[in-house]
Amino acid sequence: MTEKRYTQEVFDKLEGLYPHEGEFLQAVKEFLDAIEPVIEAHPEYRQQAVLERITEPERIISFRVPWVDDSGQVQVNRAYRVQFSSLTGPYKGGLRFHPSVNQSILKFLGFEQIFKNSLTGLPIGGGKGGSDFDPKGKSEQEVMRFCQSFMTELSRYVGPDLDVPAGDIGVGAREIGYLLGQYKRLKGPEAGVLTGKPIPAGGSLGRTEATGFGLVYFLNEMLSQVETELAGKRVIVSGSGNVAYYAARKVEAFGGVVVSMSDSNSAIYDANGIDLDTVYELKVAGRERIAKYIETHPEATLYNGSVWDMEIEADVALPCATQNEINASQAEKLVANGVKFVAEGANMPSDSGAVKVYKKNKVYYGPGKAANAGGVAVSALEMSQNSMRQRWSQEQVDGMLQDIMKNIFQSCLGACQTYDLGLDYASGADIASFENMVELMLIHGVV
Ligand code: GLU
Repeated sequence: MTEKRYTQEVFDKLEGLYPHEGEFLQAVKEFLDAIEPVIEAHPEYRQQAVLERITEPERIISFRVPWVDDSGQVQVNRAYRVQFSSLTGPYKGGLRFHPSVNQSILKFLGFEQIFKNSLTGLPIGGGKGGSDFDPKGKSEQEVMRFCQSFMTELSRYVGPDLDVPAGDIGVGAREIGYLLGQYKRLKGPEAGVLTGKPIPAGGSLGRTEATGFGLVYFLNEMLSQVETELAGKRVIVSGSGNVAYYAARKVEAFGGVVVSMSDSNSAIYDANGIDLDTVYELKVAGRERIAKYIETHPEATLYNGSVWDMEIEADVALPCATQNEINASQAEKLVANGVKFVAEGANMPSDSGAVKVYKKNKVYYGPGKAANAGGVAVSALEMSQNSMRQRWSQEQVDGMLQDIMKNIFQSCLGACQTYDLGLDYASGADIASFENMVELMLIHGVV
């Protein structure tokens, strides 16, 4: 009987241990498939239990968050911090506040984060956290009380050189401000414990824009690799939060046309290009639904459903909403409508079936862990500024971001070349970051 492949053995074990963690298993499976050629070239990794170590978080902190709502009712939410890997530095990764949050989702996000962070080349390890608290529909006071209670517990486990959370879905500058205020009361005035801070509180210029801008810098590299450019291209952007909005702005700056944007309820389509000032007012500055766009822009089309179910002719898709937002049949639709480039602003927005469709149809595909790394990269620059007691200009930060995104692209491309993978950036990203991680793991001994 032939021995089971090492990657398969590890996956089967995880599936047995965590049968209910669908998102985590999905992320691990995609990763293990991609790094198969590296494992084949290094049979000694099995004895080192390299894969068992890399797929198991160093620890998961799980806690309850009691808080009082405006009616005086006590509410209790569940919360977690997954400290996945400190090999490359202090745990680093966002906090997500969304009703869908559970351990599986945070483990998948933490797992992706370790590879993403290692690709940036900056000294940050991987982590992720959050709660099933839903900030939507809550008053300012309720959000503040929740954040204070959340940080009262989390403050035991984080610190500027230990674990540095930031925002993610449902956690923006407002929440980071409240979390920071509570941390300072408990532990002292050390702003470096969080990134994505409001500028007056020690935030970095350029952090808000970084994920979206970085995504488009990465896309530009993908385009130039096949001798084309963004000017004149039609682009579908899903979502309308920070990542989507600043990606759309940058697409416009390079002469592309953003024909569609969306939120969790609906999508808008405008062949002449979405008016981003209106999107800013509704979704970034305000807390409105995107459907309202149609009130001031009757020429646009409103669709009550996923943007990926619309029939839109386009060249580029930038999914910037959430995990698994594109499935195989929606990916087929994109291909049929002309999309040749997909770059992910969200984390794992394309499900495994969608990724297969891209591969089969030779769609150039920039996976989230590489393409959206600009956000966390500028978070690391924020950490540097905080510890140096300095502030860098927007131009300085943006220049560094551009270099970082170029380097990430080159790392992916380098791995594609070494392993003869064509332009399969997804495998390239996994392999390049895995090689970094293994090198460090072996340096550190059995940890
Ligand atoms: N939540 C973002 C991400 O998925 C940013 C994390 C950070 O800045 O630490 O990468």
